[in-house]
Amino acid sequence: MRYYNTYKDEVSEEEVAKIAARHAAEGMDSYSGYGVGAALVVAHGDNQFTVYAGFNVNLSGMQTKIHAEQMALMDFVADWPHYVADDQNVELRMMMVNTTEDDGALRCGHCLQVATAVCNHFGFSREDFLYGSVIEEEDRFKTEMYPLDYLMPEPHTEVRRDQ
Ligand SMILES: [Zn+2]
Repeated sequence: MRYYNTYKDEVSEEEVAKIAARHAAEGMDSYSGYGVGAALVVAHGDNQFTVYAGFNVNLSGMQTKIHAEQMALMDFVADWPHYVADDQNVELRMMMVNTTEDDGALRCGHCLQVATAVCNHFGFSREDFLYGSVIEEEDRFKTEMYPLDYLMPEPHTEVRRDQ
């Protein structure tokens, strides 16, 4: 299991925001020092909520970047066989993103596309999956969340010749 933590009954938006901010501080970018943190909330089983977290990795020589949101999503995907083995109902509830600049900018198109593909592949609702950014202002968190299908209403769809 690669998750950050599991909560019984509920996990508050503030707790999710704190996890995203904590991981933004761990972000690694050799060039800019810019940190991005993501916290993904997965609802499953008997009212349990498991949080996956990720941060950006852009090391000199990598040629491509690993985005915080995708690290969190892929850690969830890596755990998927455990959910299947336990025969648990699973839904993606929330993705919260924070940056070390607290610019609130990030709803990255590439990550939205990856999240959409994960929802479509596993049959998760995109309407009930809230996605957005959080800004830390003094001692409080300001969140701006939207349903994934609102942010990515017309995702790229792969069409192969044999289909
Ligand atoms: Zn991204």
